[in-house]
Amino acid sequence: MTAQLLGHGVRPTAQRLQIALLVLDRPCHFSADQLLASLRKGGQRVSKATVYNTLNLFSRRGLIREVAVDPVRLMYDSTTAPHHHFYNAETGELTDIDPTELRVSRLPALPRATEAEGIEVLIRIRPRKDA
Ligand SMILES: [Zn+2]
Repeated sequence: MTAQLLGHGVRPTAQRLQIALLVLDRPCHFSADQLLASLRKGGQRVSKATVYNTLNLFSRRGLIREVAVDPVRLMYDSTTAPHHHFYNAETGELTDIDPTELRVSRLPALPRATEAEGIEVLIRIRPRKDA
């Protein structure tokens, strides 16, 4: 983990390492609050500001990516390659969509002098009322 942080230009302090162990160990989606709760449950004394600052830093250095699921809620993803998601607005759960399951067959004309950099689809879901 230390090497991974150093490889992205992040100085591995004890708290950054603790956070990295939780979020970079396996593919996962999480909010800053969920991460803070996990750290505290594990007995870590860590401030909310430290969690936010560390997530910001990890994100800027390409260790994780931000997924803006709605205007007031930011989630983080340990998978940094572009991919598609389901977002359950009721539970707050973000899940990956199998890339073979979704195909974008047509794009609108792009604004002048631009090119598509990537397409990421976020499908908002909610529990069915009749289920
Ligand atoms: Zn994802």
